[in-house]
Amino acid sequence: MLPDEAPPEAHVWMGPGRHLVTYPLGPGERNIVAVLERDGWAEEGWNHADDPANLRAAFAGFAPELRGWLDRVDEVKLWGLFRHPVAARWQDGRIALLGDAAHPTLPFLAQGANMAFEDAWVLADCLSCLPQAQALADYQQRRRDRVVWVIAAANANARNYHLRNPMLRGMAHSALRLGGRLLPAAPLKRFEWLYGFDVTI
Ligand SMILES: Cc1cc2nc3c(=O)[nH]c(=O)nc-3n(C[C@H](O)[C@H](O)[C@H](O)COP(=O)(O)OP(=O)(O)OC[C@H]3O[C@@H](n4cnc5c(N)ncnc54)[C@H](O)[C@@H]3O)c2cc1C
Repeated sequence: MLPDEAPPEAHVWMGPGRHLVTYPLGPGERNIVAVLERDGWAEEGWNHADDPANLRAAFAGFAPELRGWLDRVDEVKLWGLFRHPVAARWQDGRIALLGDAAHPTLPFLAQGANMAFEDAWVLADCLSCLPQAQALADYQQRRRDRVVWVIAAANANARNYHLRNPMLRGMAHSALRLGGRLLPAAPLKRFEWLYGFDVTI
């Protein structure tokens, strides 16, 4: 299947120490985010070019349609992903942190930007009705537990997507496939705490 023939859906492929996500951008265009665990990383930044052959080699054993898509990739940008703890304190005096500065997350739940938006709403809400020092302290208190949960769930996805033990991986993938067929709504139900949450209430 070529990218322009693929249904307009996001796909996730999982393998030992790696996974790959694709989603449609526009007619005939898909973005591909490939994640590979490595022992070392030195450079900071979003714009390091890499050889597309490295991408193809890392995902060579994956599904045939994916290999077809990777063959058409002619530009690759490389960046590092790191785990950092949630900051102990997000505010001091007249300053408050929000988003990744306070609580960076691995992007494996696609929630980092959402958390920044939610932070912004809560911060504005606190500032609209409390004196500043108390508003900033309340803002952190209202947000902390939720972002800790979200980050833990993203970390769990990292673990589950990248299972290295072939038996565990086979069992997990079969369960996902079967679950998807028998109870397609179940995964969404499981994430009701995440997607059903309304920060404005
Ligand atoms: C591969 C990948 C996929 C992702 N997918 C999703 C997704 O699907 N959904 C989702 O919700 N999130 C996703 N995220 C996470 C999301 O991109 C981040 O969580 C989000 O951008 C954080 O927003 P922010 O405003 O806190 O920080 P940033 O977006 O990092 O913004 C900080 C800004 O501050 C600027 N800056 C830094 N230092 C200075 C300085 N000294 N002076 C002035 N400016 C400065 C930076 O240049 C930057 O523009 C993904 C992240 C990655 C890496």
